[in-house]
Amino acid sequence: MASINLPLDSNLNPVDSSANSIPVKVAQISNEVKQALDLMPHLVWMTKLGVGYCNTPLKQFIGIESNNICDTDWIKYLHPEDAEHIYNIWITAQKTGQNFEKECRIRNVDGHYQWFLLLAQSTEYGRKQFDWTITCTNIHDRALLLRETSESLRANTDMLDVSVDCIKIITPDGFVSHMNKSGCIALLGKEKVKTFGMEWLGLLPPEVREQGKKAIKQAAKGKNARFAGKSVFGNLTMYWDNILTPVVNEEGQTTSILCVSRDVTKQRIAEEKLRITSEFDEMTGLMNRRAFKKKLKVSIAKAKEIRGQTGLLLIDLDHFKHINDTLGHSAGDHLLKVLSKRLAHCLDENAYISRLGGDEFAVVIENIESNEQIINVSKKLLKQLEAPITYSGKLLNGGMSIGGSVYPVDAKDGSGLLKCADTALNDLKDRGRGGIRMFGVDMFEIAQMKAKQLDTARQIIRNNQIEPFYQPKVKLDDCSIIGFEALLRWRDEDSNIHSPATVVEAFNDFELATKISETMHNKIFTDMSAWISQGINVVPISINASPVEFMRDNYAEILLKRLAAYKIPHDLVEIEITEHILADRGYEYVVRALKKLKNSGVRIALDDFGTGHSSMTHLRDYPVDSLKIDYNFVNRMHEEKSIKAIVEGIAKLGPILSLDIIAEGIETVEQLDSLRAAGCKFGQGFLFSQAISADDAKQMLI
Ligand code: GH3
Ligand code: MG
Repeated sequence: MASINLPLDSNLNPVDSSANSIPVKVAQISNEVKQALDLMPHLVWMTKLGVGYCNTPLKQFIGIESNNICDTDWIKYLHPEDAEHIYNIWITAQKTGQNFEKECRIRNVDGHYQWFLLLAQSTEYGRKQFDWTITCTNIHDRALLLRETSESLRANTDMLDVSVDCIKIITPDGFVSHMNKSGCIALLGKEKVKTFGMEWLGLLPPEVREQGKKAIKQAAKGKNARFAGKSVFGNLTMYWDNILTPVVNEEGQTTSILCVSRDVTKQRIAEEKLRITSEFDEMTGLMNRRAFKKKLKVSIAKAKEIRGQTGLLLIDLDHFKHINDTLGHSAGDHLLKVLSKRLAHCLDENAYISRLGGDEFAVVIENIESNEQIINVSKKLLKQLEAPITYSGKLLNGGMSIGGSVYPVDAKDGSGLLKCADTALNDLKDRGRGGIRMFGVDMFEIAQMKAKQLDTARQIIRNNQIEPFYQPKVKLDDCSIIGFEALLRWRDEDSNIHSPATVVEAFNDFELATKISETMHNKIFTDMSAWISQGINVVPISINASPVEFMRDNYAEILLKRLAAYKIPHDLVEIEITEHILADRGYEYVVRALKKLKNSGVRIALDDFGTGHSSMTHLRDYPVDSLKIDYNFVNRMHEEKSIKAIVEGIAKLGPILSLDIIAEGIETVEQLDSLRAAGCKFGQGFLFSQAISADDAKQMLI
């Protein structure tokens, strides 16, 4: 049988169990009382003048022989975990007479413990001397259930505390009845809270309270609810995904609401970063094309609603590649960054700007009343390049072209509006660049025509329809052939021959121009090498080069490689470039290529001479072998004296500068005579021959 060591305090003078120390007044509890006690269902222990008596149920429960039992004896039957505590209370109670009520476990006859509620009541019989009745009510089943419940509750609470999610149990009317550790930290700023009962909405920042209120209402009705929340503690802002799940009883009523809030701060920050990168241009910080298109749609919808107008301006920098090419990409970046700030800054609240990509920006002006308003904004934008922009001590010179369109006059939607502004911009670029050009319907026709030319060019390249034709160049005094100019022609399915005018736009497109050029070179050199191998006395052949072909700075190298591949002597080839090429961007590349070709024996001819801006400077700086007098001069020399004087002047330059002078487009004998009289030595034109096929050219050489 288990026993306990009681901490007996001598001062407390507990009733001694030895017979000698107890005053023998055993008859103090009457038999009637004892009988009454025995009939009670409870276990009862009573003292009278210090003598103890236990009723029969108690005696039987603990399994003792005698009803007489003193307190130190009954305390031995208490569970070891309860005994010390009860003993201390009992000692104090004996001194004070203070009643007490305690739960404890009492050992039964079989050695098992059962829970009882001890109710100790005192009656004072002398000064500070008390009689006691202790009634023990069996509460074993209830106690077990209670302990089980509280243990599982504690276990659940512990489990909730382990969760990083912020978990709250909320009453349907919105008060917090429990909150786990994470919840306390997030909402109250501390780990543990003794009592709950605070209003949940009061814990939320004002901006999310309305959503919280709706969610609680919905959950109280028995439906799941979810909303994005936020908490702010000092500088720390956290974002939460809140899910509210109602706990419903058998009657279908919501008894409480489980609110699980997951910390989605990192996710939100990542999402925000993603949003910024997906909506803003990283380099300039301006809205990107995607975000711009969305916003433009909204602007148009607003304008539609109020039957107003919206203006769109497309800005593209002029010759921006030139800055990259000459001063480096980072100089170009710097220009874009500085300019972006200036452009954004000069707009008022009715307008917004985006970097669509590369050197292209777009501005939308809302609520416009007239085109003048658009022109004024454009002027402001154009002004932004007037103040100098420097990079590494170097001035970045730039210009810009602006194409404009208006909703609903030009187009009814965003993409249509962009297309119109783009068409206006391209039109402006084609006409020399700089300034602003508003969209006009005629521009579409031009744009469509250009698109058709590009399509045709792609098709003739793909189907190998390109064929070089050769126009003879002759000595004007005896009309003997001194060379050919190779000219692009293409043959359709019905063997009709078409001129380059049908694909002229392709010569402004690097890809198409270089592909056409490659085909022409290969076919010309094939013809030439065939003629050479057949022992024909081949004359020099001129090949036209378009400006864009020089943009990759490898024109000379590619041409020389081809000449080597076909074993063509360099002095049998002349490259014709238009004078405009030399005034245009990237002219350094052109000059380098021409010098390289000239040094390797290839001749250089300047086409359309006299039509450019700085003809004489070109002659001084560039390695030119011959000049071609433009067809227009020859054509008009008999009608206009001044033109005749120009032609004569150019013809005189020949011997002075050691250049061959070739007149183009000679169609009449009068023109021939005048040119001869002016001292012009060479020429070409319908008077002698049109451009002819390779076979016909060969026949001419035989
Ligand atoms: P145009 O006068 O016809 O507009 O010719 P452009 O030289 O300005 O060239 P275009 O507008 O056709 O093309 C823009 C060029 O800008 C293409 C590319 O080389 C360059 N570019 C594109 N994005 C960037 C960038 O982020 N930084 C820099 N430095 N250059 C860029
Ligand atoms: Mg540009």
